[in-house]
Amino acid sequence: MQKPLTINGQTINAGESKTIILNAYELHTKTQIEIPVHVVHAKAKGPSLLLSAGMHGEETNGIEIVRKIISRQEIQELKCGTLIAIPVINIVSFLYGSRDLPDGRDLNRCFPGTKNGSLGSRIAHDLMKHILPIIDFGIDFHTGGAKINNYPQLRCVFDFPDNIALAEKFSAPLIIDSNYREGTFRHEASKKNKPILVYEGGESMRFDYLAINEGLNGCLRLMHAYKMINLELPNNPSVKINKDTWIRANASGLFHMNATNGNFVNKGDLLGVICNPFGEIEHKILSTVDGYIVGINNQPVVNEGDALIHLGIEKL
Ligand SMILES: [Zn+2]
Repeated sequence: MQKPLTINGQTINAGESKTIILNAYELHTKTQIEIPVHVVHAKAKGPSLLLSAGMHGEETNGIEIVRKIISRQEIQELKCGTLIAIPVINIVSFLYGSRDLPDGRDLNRCFPGTKNGSLGSRIAHDLMKHILPIIDFGIDFHTGGAKINNYPQLRCVFDFPDNIALAEKFSAPLIIDSNYREGTFRHEASKKNKPILVYEGGESMRFDYLAINEGLNGCLRLMHAYKMINLELPNNPSVKINKDTWIRANASGLFHMNATNGNFVNKGDLLGVICNPFGEIEHKILSTVDGYIVGINNQPVVNEGDALIHLGIEKL
């Protein structure tokens, strides 16, 4: 039998499922912003898994993945361990439909945060104080930036065996070696020996059902691997990527993509063309490497030098 769990003064008993509030933050309008945390605390002992999304308020695919997970019957009947699910970490940015906080800060550069700091710093501090100590590992869901569509991928550090073990259990189509960045939740969690992997899929402010389904299935595979649920799904033939490069626009104009996100391409393959609107030019965009397309720019009008196609090279 698991012991009761206490988060910010709210207790969840073994066998209980509850939504608690991480903390309340008051805005200048006196509006209270609260961050709901959905907790399923099984009777039997097992791992404690964090699934979080909405660190950036316009990354809706991740929010939908966590919503789908907590709506499932298997999760309400968790066999062992604990699921801590935060569908929207950054509530105020979600309300605005923006990536950043009202003061322009990126919440995922505010970690570990401080008790009396800016709004972002306080949210980061509360996650570090109340959530990190009660989890064993986690997945933080993100999507591509504006107009960038990321093929479903997990980002982790290949040098850390616990990162690779989690990534293989989740089995995303692409697993990408990605170093830690200062100020991120993933980096600060790693300092406390709590591996958090970042999932990226699709584009901000746009539902991408491939990215949503791959994220959902990955969570179910991970929970099955730890015996938290009985449902078993086949693994993806995951590809491990340890080098990447961007193909940039060789001219300004209208960009047409000829290749498909996620596909393997050879060096010299035609990936797209850039034309000017007056029918005078057509520049070919060729692959510079043998690799997988891990992300594409969906913007139809590009300037010379813009990042167009993100290519990943397989670790062999
Ligand atoms: Zn993000």
